[in-house]
Amino acid sequence: MTPFTYSRAADAADAMKRIGTPGAKFLGGGTNLIDLMRETIERPTALIDVTGLSDTVTDTADGGLMIGAAVKNTALAADRRVRERYPMLTRAIVAGASAQIRNMATVAGNLLQRTRCTYFYDADGAACNKRNPGQGCDAIGGFHRYHAILGASKQCIATHPSDMTVALAALDAVVHVQSDEGARRIALSDFHMLPGAHPERETQLGEKELITAIELPPADVARNSTYRKVRDRSSYAFALISVAAALKVEDGIVAEARLALGGVAHKPWRAVAAEAALIGKPADAAAFTAAADAELASAAPLPLNAFKVELARRTIVAVLAGLSATPGAGR
Ligand SMILES: Cc1cc2nc3c(=O)[nH]c(=O)nc-3n(C[C@H](O)[C@H](O)[C@H](O)COP(=O)(O)OP(=O)(O)OC[C@H]3O[C@@H](n4cnc5c(N)ncnc54)[C@H](O)[C@@H]3O)c2cc1C
Ligand code: SF4
Repeated sequence: MTPFTYSRAADAADAMKRIGTPGAKFLGGGTNLIDLMRETIERPTALIDVTGLSDTVTDTADGGLMIGAAVKNTALAADRRVRERYPMLTRAIVAGASAQIRNMATVAGNLLQRTRCTYFYDADGAACNKRNPGQGCDAIGGFHRYHAILGASKQCIATHPSDMTVALAALDAVVHVQSDEGARRIALSDFHMLPGAHPERETQLGEKELITAIELPPADVARNSTYRKVRDRSSYAFALISVAAALKVEDGIVAEARLALGGVAHKPWRAVAAEAALIGKPADAAAFTAAADAELASAAPLPLNAFKVELARRTIVAVLAGLSATPGAGR
């Protein structure tokens, strides 16, 4: 590990001042950043602990929620308002990691966790354009069972590992950030980037910008929502495929739908084509399959992850069928 200093920010202004130190990084629960420092993939010279800032969940005037960046994953999943109004978010969070990690991990840190591509972690042995731009990508011709089927590039096929962000994408969440230059808001669906020619650029966040909160707009449809994660073992594994979905059915017809996928792309994948295909259609298996097909038409898998296309199709259909059968669906 490269030597570094540690300090705690007293407030956002203090965090702004401290992050001015060259090589400084913000520290949340440390469950991803410290691992990456041990592997020498991240080498900050100064860690600015921001876990004492913005750790409350409050109601917004329009009926949504403002979630402080330092709220712990466990606290957010357990929040009564989240469980009632946005159950897909609770389910997504508890599907991730282990109880011990969720007790430490913060909302902002979860958003910014880095890919679990094993070649990215193999700093001594593997070529990786994300770690070393221009070096090549050993995953493309290697073991890419866990990698992307949508939106990948010739430079990188890594997936975003977070479960929580998949639900946040379906919920139209907004990321609030702050820097010396002022505050700004970024739509969660624009926050993470596709790899393109620059997989080393992962988000729209500037190096010195602090995430202060995540805003959830009101979404009545989300009361009838869920998150399903398909993985190699029943806990403590990242998603092969995941689906966050919300559905409103009126007189047997889909009136509103929200759908996002995890484990398929470099970012949480908002399934806009599937949503568009669902609206106005009967809430039945034929419409759910057509919606899944519309979304997966652009899938470009590699030999070892081609199974994900069918897995995603079946998971989308099963999740939508489950939601259309729940008592809340016709509200
Ligand atoms: C064994 C293991 C299994 C896991 N399984 C899953 C899983 O199945 N699903 C899943 O979703 N996750 C999983 N995780 C990942 C875990 O959820 C993340 O490590 C965690 O969410 C990161 O949060 P943190 O607060 O600890 O972030 P940190 O490690 O502290 O920070 C992560 C990044 O966020 C930055 N940062 C933190 N706070 C701010 C802020 N306020 N503003 C700007 N930048 C900030 C840091 O500088 C750093 O770059 C797993 C982790 C481990 C170790
Ligand atoms: S898929 Fe991306 S993260 Fe993995 S080795 Fe290739 S460039 Fe690196």
